[in-house]
Amino acid sequence: MKGNDELINTTSSKDRQAIIKSFKKVKLDLLVIGGGITGAGISLDATKRGLRTGVIEMQDFAAGTSSRSTKLVHGGLRYLKQFEIGIVSEVGKERAIVYENGPHVTSPEWMMLPFYKGGTFGPFSTNIGLRVYDYLADVKKEERRIMLKPQEALEKEPLLQSNNLMGAGYYVEYKTDDARLTLEIMKKSIELGTKALNYIKMIEFLYNEEDKIKGVIVEDQISKEIFHIEAKYVINATGPWVDKLRDLDNSKYGKTLQLTKGVHLVFSQETFPLRQAIYFDTPDKRMIFAIPRVNKVYIGTSDTKYEGEITHPQVTIEDRDYILHAINDMFPSLSLTPKDIESSWAGIRPLISQEGKKPSEISRKDEIFTSNSGLISMAGGKLTGYRKMAEQAVDKVTAIFKSEQNILFEKSTTKYLSLSGGDVGGSIGFVDFKIEKVNTGMALGIANSDAIYLVNQYGSNVDIIYKLYSENEAKAKEEGINPLVLATLLYSIEYELAYTPLDYFIRRTSAMFFDIHFVKENKETVINFMSKLLNWTDEQRIQYRNELVTVYEESTLKNIE
Ligand code: FAD
Repeated sequence: MKGNDELINTTSSKDRQAIIKSFKKVKLDLLVIGGGITGAGISLDATKRGLRTGVIEMQDFAAGTSSRSTKLVHGGLRYLKQFEIGIVSEVGKERAIVYENGPHVTSPEWMMLPFYKGGTFGPFSTNIGLRVYDYLADVKKEERRIMLKPQEALEKEPLLQSNNLMGAGYYVEYKTDDARLTLEIMKKSIELGTKALNYIKMIEFLYNEEDKIKGVIVEDQISKEIFHIEAKYVINATGPWVDKLRDLDNSKYGKTLQLTKGVHLVFSQETFPLRQAIYFDTPDKRMIFAIPRVNKVYIGTSDTKYEGEITHPQVTIEDRDYILHAINDMFPSLSLTPKDIESSWAGIRPLISQEGKKPSEISRKDEIFTSNSGLISMAGGKLTGYRKMAEQAVDKVTAIFKSEQNILFEKSTTKYLSLSGGDVGGSIGFVDFKIEKVNTGMALGIANSDAIYLVNQYGSNVDIIYKLYSENEAKAKEEGINPLVLATLLYSIEYELAYTPLDYFIRRTSAMFFDIHFVKENKETVINFMSKLLNWTDEQRIQYRNELVTVYEESTLKNIE
């Protein structure tokens, strides 16, 4: 509610100072450090149960691992290979919930798993494996696995390596936009009352006389102002940074994190005309995904131990060549070279260390550590399991409330809670919703393909985009900016807390990965517009422009040519 310091729950970057003021004033029940999917999910669960909750994020929301994944909400077929039955069963069921709560941001995708003479999987193990998967993950009848003969597999995807092909399994995964999924969770959480702000870094913990955490000292990464936030309990949901915060709390004992890096490459459909999503064996017996996405294809991932700088992981020549080699092995007619790569990204997995295991063998299971000071740290896990992870973390906090203060909170109720943009009548309702809203968009003069994109991207928030579009057509002309770009940019600033051009080009639109030409075409007008609207200083303008140019060069791999 704007104007009320205590309850301010705005998502406009124009209100940064008001949000900061309200953070300073209020004593929170729970402060969550980290605005990736784990922190966003925890805040939603906690606020929904009635805890006065805050989230701080030192970069942009989802700027860590949560914008750098394979972007699948999946049941984790690979975990079956490692006999992690519990994970397969739980995340398999969770993916259906994630889908229903936001069908605009997650959608089913039929995936093909080809098998070859001498490969990891054969017809028998694939059939059994997928059948067990269907059972454990409680897969809907119409989405249960089908077994394909070699010819059928090649009909679905003619680019497949045909030598020694014995057939394929055909089953359903769900694809998403990880950063937008995180944002839709965060926005819903703020709508329900969470106080949240990006570019606020936790630099020190505050302790009471009994050495229990009572808050944190933070630094606004934009103004450099330092201030205190008070909270009864603090959750460390900083993904790959979890151990850094445990170090600050002198509580990095017992299990620690093992970071591993995974990279993805993006190609245009013109050079890599893949029709069908494929999950395939690499020459070194790992499994990677090749996934068509609008008119692009992305492929990944690698999995290597990582000890470098966490904020800014990069694709190396070795990473690039590893993926190119795997592509050319599975799709031999392509002969792709580094020049064919349009974009790329690298991400860091926050895994819990396991002695003697290779990176790809380490469990993806999540864990919670509680320190003597009361710091609750959550690490490991998957995008897919974010809601359950959140439930477990908040259960822990409510149990402490009960034992220490005899205050009771209800159980988690996020199972049937639509995310922001998800008020479309579930997956079934979304079909008619889409038709109606695409027509609304076209009546405003928006092209059919653009209207489809907008409805898929913003779900039930598309009406706000349409309003911004209609109200600002003249202004767009004046500013020399495409009216649809202006509408989505305004939305990202005023409804999604975007503050820098990278927030818009990566986390709000994913153009940096899937539409690099859009970035090239619109970067100067976007910088100009944001600079004016957000009153950047000259230094800020130079800094944000430089950051954009650097990330552009890195994404296109121009920096390692
Ligand atoms: P993050 O997203 O990294 O969030 C932590 C946040 O904490 C960061 O934004 C960081 O800036 C912030 N932070 C750190 N320190 C501070 C501080 N001092 N003050 C304030 N903020 C701070 N999972 C799936 O389900 N499906 C997949 O397809 C999939 N593919 C993957 C592929 C790769 C290559 C990788 C690396 C991971 C993949 N995962 C996948 C796993 C999934 O992406 C992660 O488990 C998840 O994104 C972790 O989210 P998080 O919120 O814990 O961490």
